[in-house]
Amino acid sequence: MNVFKDAINQLNQLGQKAGIDPEILQLLNYPEETLSAALPVRMDDGSTKVFVGHRCRFNSVLGPTKGGIRFHPNVTADEVKALALWMTIKCALVNIPYGGGKGGITVDPKQLTRLELERLSRSYMRAMADIVGPNRDIPAPDVYTNARIMGWMSDEYENIKREKCPAIITGKPIELGGSLGREEATGRGAYLVNELWAKHKQWQPKNMTVALQGFGNAGYHMAKLMQQQGYTIIAVSDSKGGILAEQGLDIESLYAHKQASKTLKAVYCYGSVCEEQDHTKISNEDLLRLKVDLLIPAALEGVITTENAEHIQAPFIIEVANGPITQEASAILEDKGTEIMPDVLANAGGVIVSYFEWAQNLQGYRWPLKEIRHRLLATLEQAFADLWIIHENEKVSLRHAAYSLALRRIAAAISSHGTQSYFMQ
Ligand code: NAD
Repeated sequence: MNVFKDAINQLNQLGQKAGIDPEILQLLNYPEETLSAALPVRMDDGSTKVFVGHRCRFNSVLGPTKGGIRFHPNVTADEVKALALWMTIKCALVNIPYGGGKGGITVDPKQLTRLELERLSRSYMRAMADIVGPNRDIPAPDVYTNARIMGWMSDEYENIKREKCPAIITGKPIELGGSLGREEATGRGAYLVNELWAKHKQWQPKNMTVALQGFGNAGYHMAKLMQQQGYTIIAVSDSKGGILAEQGLDIESLYAHKQASKTLKAVYCYGSVCEEQDHTKISNEDLLRLKVDLLIPAALEGVITTENAEHIQAPFIIEVANGPITQEASAILEDKGTEIMPDVLANAGGVIVSYFEWAQNLQGYRWPLKEIRHRLLATLEQAFADLWIIHENEKVSLRHAAYSLALRRIAAAISSHGTQSYFMQ
């Protein structure tokens, strides 16, 4: 499966259904620019190793492009383009003044020492210094990148430009201009979207069982808040496998255990959830097939495909990862009656608080955590309400409603710049 082709097919299909002008859809089939660059890195043993990095600015009609940087062995230019397209939809959907972008390096960061990782991060920023910029393209963390890596990159950018520029990157350490609440933002946002959904569905958290794939930044923060709310999280997993306990797992102690075991290298301080004792081991694939009320894929894209969609038993799925369900699998699930809260809303908390960080940096302010959380909730409530109106009035799936809303906003901005209809008037 080519993830970019899949993303474009989905865009075209949903765009046509939403009545988007074909000229505009055609424009959205191509990224504005993608830079792939060689990243030479001096390794600790004195040798030089060349990695490949990518940055895509997909569409900037609504504002400077925005999106994370992923460090993962499976990163390709096509994956980065798909993720940048989804960011374009997401930012439009939650109505923040950004276009969509994304970046990545094809690397297994766990194989690098901390100094090698720092040199690689700086090398990436040197290669991308002309494509990024506080009013052009603003990166942030994604899979296997974190605040420390954002700090190295912002420092490198400031060295190149010879000026302070905290607004170049978000998800930075607090001391370098990072925002309070950014680290928890994706998970908290996903939790808040789930609570808004729960209200409509009249779910009683204490009667709901949950399985979570991906116990990283997004998954952990969401699971913690859900458990506090009364949900029973019966299974979680990470890249090494998963654990299952029908009576429910204690998220905080799992996290503490993962932190303490420090089995991952470099700046990754998490161990694997598989080392926790009181549980049955379960594979990532089996976790997806569990009979739970709510399934949360929060790791990588393309984990629910035509191969396993028929076996998914959860009636509700909240997509915390970007693109966890392929387009064909999504159709199978919808036919079965599975309801899916789409990624473009479910994980938008991260980019919303990144926007707050950028706004604070540009203005030289530091907002209190209470204000950040309040603004996050208000932004998500508005986006959820806008989406729900289309979902109910037009009797379409939540993903369809999300794309309709986002594409109508993007289309309005593009046509204001001048499309065929503008010239025919
Ligand atoms: P992370 O690096 O903090 O965590 C990723 C987790 O996924 C880790 O626990 C890892 O072990 C696990 N994982 C990796 N491969 C796996 C596999 N094959 N099966 C099961 N688990 C696996 O990353 P994150 O920031 O939590 O990102 C997770 C997802 O959320 C990604 O799809 C990312 O694009 C999306 N997302 C993140 C943010 C953000 O702000 N961090 C924002 C929006 C969306």
